Amino acid sequence: MTERTVPSRVRPVPAASSDPRPGVAGVEPTELAGLLAEMGEPAFRARQVGDAVWRSEAPSWDAVTTLGLPLRAGLAERLRFDTVAETDLRLADDDATEKALHRLPDGRLVESVLMHYPARGERRERNTLCISSQAGCAVGCPFCATGELGFERDLDVAEIVDQVRHARRRLVSRGRHLTNLVFMGMGEPLLNLDAVIGAARVLTDADRFGLGARHLTISTSGVVPGIERLTALSPQWTLAVSLHAARDALRDLLVPLNRRWPVRAVVAAAAGYAAATGRRVSYEYVMIDGLNDTPADADALARLLAGSGSHVNCIPMNPVAHTPWQASTPERIDAFAGRLRAAGLGVTIRRNRGQEVGAACGQLAAEKSAEPAAVAVARRRERLVAASRAALAGERSQEPAPPGLPAGSQGPVIAQTAPRAAARPIARPDRRPAAGRQLPGLPQRRTR
Ligand code: SAH
Ligand code: SF4
Repeated sequence: MTERTVPSRVRPVPAASSDPRPGVAGVEPTELAGLLAEMGEPAFRARQVGDAVWRSEAPSWDAVTTLGLPLRAGLAERLRFDTVAETDLRLADDDATEKALHRLPDGRLVESVLMHYPARGERRERNTLCISSQAGCAVGCPFCATGELGFERDLDVAEIVDQVRHARRRLVSRGRHLTNLVFMGMGEPLLNLDAVIGAARVLTDADRFGLGARHLTISTSGVVPGIERLTALSPQWTLAVSLHAARDALRDLLVPLNRRWPVRAVVAAAAGYAAATGRRVSYEYVMIDGLNDTPADADALARLLAGSGSHVNCIPMNPVAHTPWQASTPERIDAFAGRLRAAGLGVTIRRNRGQEVGAACGQLAAEKSAEPAAVAVARRRERLVAASRAALAGERSQEPAPPGLPAGSQGPVIAQTAPRAAARPIARPDRRPAAGRQLPGLPQRRTR
């Protein structure tokens, strides 16, 4: 990408969808069986519908020719086959990176990115999909295009899973299959944890999507109560923590929820996850030239993670127009990684995929939103320059933590209810709620 538009914090909010039908991908098998029985269908239909949803290439109920017309019509009345209204694809890296911009029925945009890694030596081919858990994000990391959009809404289970079903259909048509799934698209997964856990269960259920649990990664900017809740579940999913700075003053700026959960609390919670699950935690570190890539930063990171057995991924920052920052140079990244390795940490230097299609999380959706005035961008850059200077001088931020975070260690945003609570109930055709009304089971809308 050579030219980028700058996202606006105040986006026109599209009219809410009046479609009350839940997506079939978020409906539990027992519920689906109950619905089919209610419709007078024999028990074996549940398996046929499951095959159509999880194993066929059909993009709609119309295309499910294994079911009779009246049944297709009856199901279409009650359940959406697909919650993604429309998908726009952009290719990069000689077609090895495919960025999908998904329009949800209420007009909101979310992204997923499919990355193909050909087989090399001993290593088998990989196809990794990066998916979104929210439209926008409340955390507001200043180097991230999604953070700049602000929070719009949580996705439900089906909206998360349908990004994966879309990618699967594209892969199958090329004779490939999905090998890895990462929650590293738009949104903070641990601030929409019920739906994320629900989707992860659907995706790793052998009778549904069937991905191996160890091939699924959930990335967080450090929501400590969410990490604790995952720890209590002890899944085999991989946890990735977006650290970006080992010192609180700098992390207050780069990951604003550090003002609520400081870096040591985040690393302690992640260590708890590793101990409970036996899974190595990986740390993401976006490299920003002259800001978080000095030898002192590397040493602070090495001290923070000493003896944890964790792995650090160094990622050159994808440029985003509203910041004054650039990616670290390859030489600085090598030097940083070298210091970490010398201190005994595992390190991978990641290549940025799909720069020309704006592959940093949220960039495509941001491009589609209204462009703020140049003067607002200039002011924002100035503020970031001043804040960087203060952070480098070791001053903790005086700004409050972003609104919308859970209050304490077990706050109200992260409910302790069963994951199914995040999915919508099956609508009966004769009981449709009025258009625009908040539907039962839908997450409450939050604003920044
Ligand atoms: N909210 C979660 C998951 C989504 S962000 C989290 O922060 O972990 C996924 C990853 O993309 C994070 O590690 C984030 O820091 C990174 N990212 C965001 N903007 C980026 C940019 N401009 N350049 C490189 N990586 C970026
Ligand atoms: Fe949200 Fe993650 Fe972007 Fe930070 S990096 S704003 S937490 S999506």
